[in-house]
Amino acid sequence: MKRIFCLILVCLLLGGCSRVEKCEKTLFAMDTVMELTIWGADAERAAGEIGQLLRTLEQQWTAPVQAEEDTLLARIQALQERTDGAFDPGLYALVDAWGFYDEQYRIPSQELIDSALADERLDLGGAVKGYAGQLAVQILDGMEIDRAILDLGGNIQTYGSKPGGEPWLIGIRDPDGAGELGIVSVYGAMSVVTSGDYQRYFEVDGQRYHHIFDPQTGWPADSGLQSVTVICSDGLTADVLSTALFVMGPKKGAAFWQNSGDFEAVFVLDSGEIWATQGARLSGCEFEVIRREK
Ligand code: AMP
Ligand code: MG
Repeated sequence: MKRIFCLILVCLLLGGCSRVEKCEKTLFAMDTVMELTIWGADAERAAGEIGQLLRTLEQQWTAPVQAEEDTLLARIQALQERTDGAFDPGLYALVDAWGFYDEQYRIPSQELIDSALADERLDLGGAVKGYAGQLAVQILDGMEIDRAILDLGGNIQTYGSKPGGEPWLIGIRDPDGAGELGIVSVYGAMSVVTSGDYQRYFEVDGQRYHHIFDPQTGWPADSGLQSVTVICSDGLTADVLSTALFVMGPKKGAAFWQNSGDFEAVFVLDSGEIWATQGARLSGCEFEVIRREK
């Protein structure tokens, strides 16, 4: 009897252990370091499948993307319209002209910029990491997973709740340094995506030329922002909007948020001022709150 009791106890303990299993995986994909941290009985299998997903997406959506009928492209085109063209998936030739693919950075002639703008080959680099986060959530949903945090090169995807119902705390990088400027709290499956002028750039004569372009001019967007972070339950939307809001700048971006209902945002202005939308749950810094007019 005593032996059976011990056996049951051991089984219970083992069962309990597998449920809190944690798996950490670091990989290089889509030109950036990614870190997957997953808790749950299926953590290891989930990390493997998400790793594979990232590789597949990398192959499928590396610029220039072959245009074909596809639901992802259709969704991106809808978001392009929603952002009034601030997000433009057809900038492959422009990004290439500025040297961001071969890292032979250069300021192209206006003639080259104009012809690159007329070229519609696709570059989905501003959207695909957020999309990856969203597909990863679908993988996690089909497995025994307690919670996960996926850092897809600065695009953070959370999943599930922390013990005790605590929120996930996601740091927003200080564009002027290596540290954090503030922290946003999120619950459940959320995508937290930042676009910033410090992420990829080169300098000529002390002037910074970064990787987010204004599709109207073909020059790096100079809209008064150092970074913008978008918090949204839909990964693709988060990623597209972070890039688009960076192009729009703080004032247009705030108005865009006021007319939307599906995301929150934190704007870091060139002046160093921080603006956060009403539901952004930002802490650790001083900021101005953007509200909806009544
Ligand atoms: P993100 O870091 O998500 O803001 O994406 C920036 C990347 O998206 C760049 O490296 C380009 O490949 C591409 N990109 C740059 N400007 C735009 C734009 N206005 N719309 C869409 N994609 C862009
Ligand atoms: Mg983006």
